[in-house]
Amino acid sequence: MFRLLLLLAATLSLGNAANSAWNQPFPPHKVIGNVYYVGTSELSSFLITTSEGHILINSSFEESVPIIRAAVEKLGFKFSDIKILLISHAHDDHTAGSALVKKLTGAKFMVMDADVPVVEGGGQGDFNYNSKWAPTKVDRVLHDGDTVALGGTILIAHKTAGHTKGCTTWTLKVPDGGKNYDVVVVGSPNVNPGFKLVNNTKYPQIAEDYAKSFRVWKSLPCDVFLGAHGNYYGMQEKYKKMQSGGGNPFIDPAGYRAYIAEKQQAYETNLERQRAGK
Ligand SMILES: [Zn+2]
Repeated sequence: MFRLLLLLAATLSLGNAANSAWNQPFPPHKVIGNVYYVGTSELSSFLITTSEGHILINSSFEESVPIIRAAVEKLGFKFSDIKILLISHAHDDHTAGSALVKKLTGAKFMVMDADVPVVEGGGQGDFNYNSKWAPTKVDRVLHDGDTVALGGTILIAHKTAGHTKGCTTWTLKVPDGGKNYDVVVVGSPNVNPGFKLVNNTKYPQIAEDYAKSFRVWKSLPCDVFLGAHGNYYGMQEKYKKMQSGGGNPFIDPAGYRAYIAEKQQAYETNLERQRAGK
């Protein structure tokens, strides 16, 4: 049964199985400073607003784009003011809508080097999945440590590969209430069902990449913990907490460290199991 589940998970596109449950509208909300959540019930999209236009992280599914657009407008911003589109990684639930966002906004699409062939190939060339989406031209190829700047806001692209070859963790410093906060948007530390960590001919260095990524995540200063899926950082619970007042629940450095430690443990257990041939 487990093998069958693995097979199913490996052959189905990520999206088909979970699209509808993940893709419900969710109240858009301010996270901190100029960072807003404009994603769906599960798929994170962040709008970073500036005086020179906005940055959007994650277009999600094509079907998510109207939901994201409505969220941006509900907050009082213009979707057409999005100048730069970024992604967490080249899986359909974060980038299948990118061609549509580019068409609607004219935004420049900036993607980490090793994820570029997959987004431009419309999902083809991924080491594990066989998803299909509208191929999307990349306007700027990013490399580890590159910065993306707009209207005084500067984001740093950290290559945290493993989950995809160009999986990207975004960091930025955000002023709010007279203080500066380190914001981290985790790309993904997850080893999905079916991922081969040993003898992976399509991605031979996968285990080394995950190991390096955990070193990077542990080295990043983090006050505000965000991620490609709401469930990485307890988005829905924190949103509810924020409604009841008090401190900003998205400021959660301990939650970030605990999450990374838990995911590293899961990765190492999985690697040991695969090395033992189980
Ligand atoms: Zn993914």
